[in-house]
Amino acid sequence: MENCLFCKIIAGKISARKVYEDDKVFVFEDINPKAPTHVLIVPKRHITGLKEASPEDAEIIGYSHIIAAQIARERRIEDGYRTVYNVGPKSGQSVFHLHLHLLGGRDLKWPPG
Ligand code: AMP
Ligand code: ZN
Repeated sequence: MENCLFCKIIAGKISARKVYEDDKVFVFEDINPKAPTHVLIVPKRHITGLKEASPEDAEIIGYSHIIAAQIARERRIEDGYRTVYNVGPKSGQSVFHLHLHLLGGRDLKWPPG
C-alpha cells in the first residue's frame, strides 16, 4: 500500500533492523524500544489494524503470536513478556498497518499505563 511506513519497510524501501522474515511476516526491532526486547511482528499483507481485521485475517493474527513466542524463546525472556496490539489513536496506535509488539527483558507493570 502506498504511503504506508511498514509496507515500505517490508519492501526494503526504508531500512529496519530485521529480526526474522518468512512468506507471511516481517519482524524488526522497534526504533524507539520500550524494553530490552521490543520487536514488531508485521504481516506482509497490509491490514490497517485489529478493528479493521476480518475473519480471513484470523490465521495471520494467530501466526504472529506464534512467531512472538518463538522469538521470546530464542531471547530467553520467557520468565515474562507481553504481546500487545495498540488499537486506535487513544491507545497510542501511530502506524496504521497491523503490528504485534513483543516486549520483554525487564519487569512489566500491570495494568499498562
Ligand atoms: P503503535 O504506536 O502501536 O502504532 O506502534 C508503532 C511503533 O512503530 C512504535 O513503537 C514506533 O516506535 C515504531 N516505529 C515507527 N517508525 C519505525 C521505524 N522506521 N522502524 C522501526 N520502528 C518504527
Ligand atoms: Zn502497510
